[in-house]
Amino acid sequence: GHGIAWAAARWAVDQAVCLGATVIYVEDLATLEPALGRQVNARISASVRGQFQDALRHLGAKAGCAVVTVPARGTSAICPQCLRRLRHYTSPERLRSGYPWAHCSHCGLSADRDHAAAQRICSRGLSSQPAVHQDPRTRHLAIRQAQDSQVARCLRRQPRLGPTTRPHTHPVPWRRRVLSPPAAAAVNGQRPEGGVPQVGVTSAPGQDTRAQPYPTPLRHRPRWVS
Ligand SMILES: [Zn+2]
Repeated sequence: GHGIAWAAARWAVDQAVCLGATVIYVEDLATLEPALGRQVNARISASVRGQFQDALRHLGAKAGCAVVTVPARGTSAICPQCLRRLRHYTSPERLRSGYPWAHCSHCGLSADRDHAAAQRICSRGLSSQPAVHQDPRTRHLAIRQAQDSQVARCLRRQPRLGPTTRPHTHPVPWRRRVLSPPAAAAVNGQRPEGGVPQVGVTSAPGQDTRAQPYPTPLRHRPRWVS
């Protein structure tokens, strides 16, 4: 149990460091409900959890990552997205009452039970930051009065279906198929209006802000400009 706890803590701290996180939120063991699931030996599990959190604090401190406990109440019972009651099933395909899969009939969340609970723990910790309390004896950081907030749905780009064109495989930049409009002629030796793209200068509303190209000297003109 001891080795597993330290290996798990090492993994968790490495993950946090890779993500640039400065805090890890964990469930407060004192507030955990005694029923941890039928298959789990609750006594051994509680002992390993305690060792895990000790290891997490130790390794986290070395990596500059604070470990803060949050109340565990309702972390797996409530939907992280809409804060309404979740239902649990055996799997996403078979909506038979079970343990490992969480589904929300209100907002449509469908997620691994532990993943949904982790989102709840993290959002609870982040929204309760002003309430972090340090125990004067153990110096452990804890949140006692939890605030809850909704986790925004991740706007992940959908993968494209079918073959995709890769824009950067051509050795030279693609040329425009449509010729650009002729550049405005210089007046009195001055550059035409809008000829130079200005950085940090705002233009009047309605004005065309697109940068116009300089008139290209003849010898530099590509051959397709006739
Ligand atoms: Zn929901």
